[in-house]
Amino acid sequence: MSDCLFCRILRREVPATIVYEDADVLAFKDIFPQAPVHLLLVPKLHCDGLNDLSPEVLAVVPRIMEIAARLAGEQGIAQSGWRLLANCGEHAGQTVFHLHFHLLGGKPLGGKLCQ
Ligand code: 5GP
Ligand code: ZN
Repeated sequence: MSDCLFCRILRREVPATIVYEDADVLAFKDIFPQAPVHLLLVPKLHCDGLNDLSPEVLAVVPRIMEIAARLAGEQGIAQSGWRLLANCGEHAGQTVFHLHFHLLGGKPLGGKLCQ
């Protein structure tokens, strides 16, 4: 999708601090971090979100989880704890409609999933 922000980051048209890349996945720092560690992990194949998973994107999701665990280790938060989440749609507050997983940690994140 040519006008999608994360596709533009993937094409290096928008700068981002990239922490991991392979053939299928890019991980970069969130521009408005909500925690000391706040990374975004995205499949390179465009997908609006969890409501729109294609088989090709779905195949990458377990790898994103594996990469998240590895990055948590590299960022030094594996033992203190971290959270991996994806917002889907309006009520979840999704603002960028390219599937992405937030990797958050480095401070207590709170025990509630919703208010
Ligand atoms: P969502 O609200 O869709 O779950 O998450 C979108 C995330 O993208 C937000 O946490 C927001 O801070 C981040 N974000 C928005 N614009 C940019 C940008 O231009 N660069 C980076 N690195 N992150 C962005
Ligand atoms: Zn996209």
